This record gives sequence, C-alpha cells and structure tokens, in this order.
Amino acid sequence: MDIADLGDRILRGERRALARAITLVESQREDHRAQATELLSHLAQSGRQSLRIGLSGTPGVGKSTFIESFGMMLIGQGLRVAVLAVDPSSARSGGSILGDKTRMERLSREKNAFIRPSPSQSHLGGVARRTREAIALCEAAGYDVVLIETVGVGQSETVVSELSDLFLLLLAPAGGDELQGVKRGIMEMADIILINKADGDLKATATRTCADYAGALRLLRKRPQDPEGFPKAMAVSAVEEHGLDKAWTEIQSLTDWRREAGHWQSNRAAQARYWFDQEVRHALLARLETAQAKAQMAQLDAEVSQGRLSPAAAAEKMLASLV
Ligand code: GDP
Repeated sequence: MDIADLGDRILRGERRALARAITLVESQREDHRAQATELLSHLAQSGRQSLRIGLSGTPGVGKSTFIESFGMMLIGQGLRVAVLAVDPSSARSGGSILGDKTRMERLSREKNAFIRPSPSQSHLGGVARRTREAIALCEAAGYDVVLIETVGVGQSETVVSELSDLFLLLLAPAGGDELQGVKRGIMEMADIILINKADGDLKATATRTCADYAGALRLLRKRPQDPEGFPKAMAVSAVEEHGLDKAWTEIQSLTDWRREAGHWQSNRAAQARYWFDQEVRHALLARLETAQAKAQMAQLDAEVSQGRLSPAAAAEKMLASLV
C-alpha cells in the first residue's frame, strides 16, 4: 500500500481514502500497525484541528436522531461533520448498531458527512485506541466537527471524555426521582446536559427535568475549565429540531472561552499524555502475549500456587525475562 498516496488523498478530503485508512488503523495485523503509524505521523503535520464532541446517552434516548438533526444543521451552515462510535455493546456482540443502515439516513447521504460504525473489537480499551486514531484521520481529512458517540454504560463515558474537547450528555424527560439514576461521576464529566424529547406530551416534563438537572449541576464542584453558567442543562427536541441551534451557540461560546483561557489546549495536552501512557502500558502487556512469555507465566504461576516462590519474586523473574 502506498501510504504517502493514501495520506494525500485523505488530505484532499476523499471519503473512500478516509474509510480505508480507518480500516487500516483498526487492523490488528502487525504490518498494518506499522503502516498506520506511518500514515498518522505523515498526517500529523497537517495541523488541522476539528472540534471533537463526545455524546453519550442510554439506548432510546435519541442519540442517532439527535446526531442526524444536529449534523444536518451543521452541514446547512457549511460545515463538514464526521460521526464515530465507541460502542462497548457492539464490541461484545461483534456487530454494530451504527452499522444499521436505518440510522442517520439523511446524514449518511450528505457528501459533507462521514459516518463510521464502531470497530468490533473485544475490549473497550482497544476500541478507544482505534477511535482516537480515527479521530486524527478525520481531522486530517478536514472535518470541522467530529461527533464521538457512545452508549452510556459508565466506563465508556470516561473513555469518550478522554477523546473529546467537549462532552454532551443526552437524557430523557423523567420524574424527579430518576435524577438519581445518573451517576454523579458522569454528571461531573458533562459540559452540557441535553434533555431530549422536549416536544408534544413530554414538553412539560422535559422542562421540569431540565430545571432539576440545572439545579443539580449548580451543586457540583466548580471546575477550572468552565466559564460562568457552565456546565448547563438545556431542553431540546431532536425530532422537531428545537433548541439545536441554541445548543450549538453554547458549544461554540464554551469552546471560544476555553481556547482563550488556554484550557482547550491544556486538555488536549493532558489527553496526549494520557494516551502515551496507555500506549506504553498496552505495548508492555502485549509482550506477555508471546508464546515464550505465556509459557514462562504458566510455569511461574505454578510455582507461586505451590508456595515455592513468592508472588513478588515470581513477578521480578518474569519482568527480568522481558527486558
Ligand atoms: P438512540 O438509541 O439513543 O440512538 O435513540 P434513537 O435516536 O434511535 O431514538 C429512540 C426513539 O426515540 C425513536 O423512536 C425516536 O423517534 C425517538 N426520539 C428521538 N428523539 C426524539 C425527540 O426529540 N422527540 C420525541 N418525541 N422522540 C424522539
């Protein structure tokens, strides 16, 4: 494969080249890994940066409807939009809900949109690493906004917040009691909470839910990366396309403020350090996957379980054999 040519085509914004490159970064093959690294280094020089928006919510809350309406609105403003998924449930089933053709039908027909289903890998860490590289590819391809979607299952929000500049939490209108259902840790990650389905019969409930969350957000510890009034809760309707422009205005004003205050840059720097650390850990663990290392692990394991070697001494032996 001609990596330089693939890189140039991505820089020209060719969607097929982008799709091919994402397949490359998702591959587990060692030669593909080397090519992917070469490609990413080549593209890192483009200096292009997208706004990376993380979006989470439980199934049925309206994520795909929201992404479609919101994405169409952004495209209407002349922006290019990429949608990626970090989906731990599809990692389990091996399929992908985003692969479902009925999702985001309008958006998927737009030439300024790029939608990529979640990679089917066996663990969240692996999916996250590949998604991070897919984001870098979308950035190089000149997408203005990259939406990173995840189904809310606790751990996946944390991963997505490590991948994005800004985190949106999508919630459904609900009675006051259900406010307890959202874990504090997840609320603390949100920059904007969107109460979706604020239309028809649900409108009044949505307004109340929104006020409840606004109150709850005010009780959270103040974060240095927030200007006055953030994080905030807003009611929207993805179906009726209400409140989406307002949400976008808030996203932009938050981003502008963070850029001026330097928080945007320091967040990206912290994320880069985090992912460097993850890469090293991952590579170290991969060294235990060789046949030789596995055999030695098994042998030391037996010695430890028989009490012939202490766990610490066995670990030391194991590590000594790796360097
Ligand atoms: P996802 O599982 O989070 O991606 O949710 P979907 O986007 O598939 O939406 C789940 C259901 O909620 C669908 O029947 C949608 O039509 C409905 N839905 C999504 N957004 C809205 C909205 O703004 N208002 C109303 N009333 N229904 C919505």
